[in-house]
Amino acid sequence: MQGNLFVVSSPSGAGKSSLISALLERHNDMKVSVSHTTRQPRPGEENEVHYHFTNVEAFKDLISKDGFYEWAEVFGNYYGTSKQAIQDQLDQGIDVFLDIDWQGAQQMREIRPDIITLFILPPSREELESRLNKRGQDSAEVIAKRMSQAQSEMSHYNEYDFLLINDDFEETLNNFEKIVLTHRLKTKNQYSKNSQLLTQLLAKS
Ligand code: GDP
Ligand code: ADP
Ligand code: 5GP
Repeated sequence: MQGNLFVVSSPSGAGKSSLISALLERHNDMKVSVSHTTRQPRPGEENEVHYHFTNVEAFKDLISKDGFYEWAEVFGNYYGTSKQAIQDQLDQGIDVFLDIDWQGAQQMREIRPDIITLFILPPSREELESRLNKRGQDSAEVIAKRMSQAQSEMSHYNEYDFLLINDDFEETLNNFEKIVLTHRLKTKNQYSKNSQLLTQLLAKS
């Protein structure tokens, strides 16, 4: 049985990382793909857990070796999804989430047309800025840069299959969970999981 592959995008600070980690706490058969990045770790971020932290040279080396499904330059740093990060998990029936930007989402749709995409919006611009400030992990300069890019990022919302407005966290989380669980019930996914039952039910008596 294969897991489903999801892309979650949003302007920085809308809550995608928090939503994904809260969903993973509810389900042990869901995982987040750990991206490679050339940005510096934030306080509390661990190598191999939050990102594979790397340098520009090593990142470019992996590009030349065709090691990425997709990569993009975001806020002046390189970010990318390695092939290895995804396939092993899907083969074990685990649902995998990619926390990637809209450029990465466009590339992934080409490579994996079966991918399910979600966009998260904040309830207002003021709230977005307030969340970036409250997170307290980026400098004022970095926050200003992220806010200035928010509008152009948000303009891509209509390329996505699902749109969630992250106002009340629990409500957004419950809707996110419903989307993921519903995809497990698609006929093609049920077929591989219930092949024995289907063979029995459809056998000529
Ligand atoms: P956050 O948006 O505040 O969570 O900040 P991050 O530094 O975690 O992510 C920065 C940007 O890079 C976001 O737009 C992510 O969606 C994007 N991103 C993260 N990982 C990937 C990836 O593997 N591929 C692509 N294309 N984008 C990614
Ligand atoms: P992203 O991964 O999209 O950049 P985060 O998940 O890091 O965003 O969330 C940014 C900040 O906003 C975090 O401090 C998080 O705790 C907070 N946050 C996320 N969702 C909500 C919400 N619905 N209401 C209030 N604060 C939220
Ligand atoms: P942050 O620096 O806040 O961790 O991430 C900044 C942005 O980069 C976020 O919007 C995040 O989703 C995006 N991002 C993180 N990893 C990747 C990746 O592997 N590929 C792409 N395209 N974007 C990524």
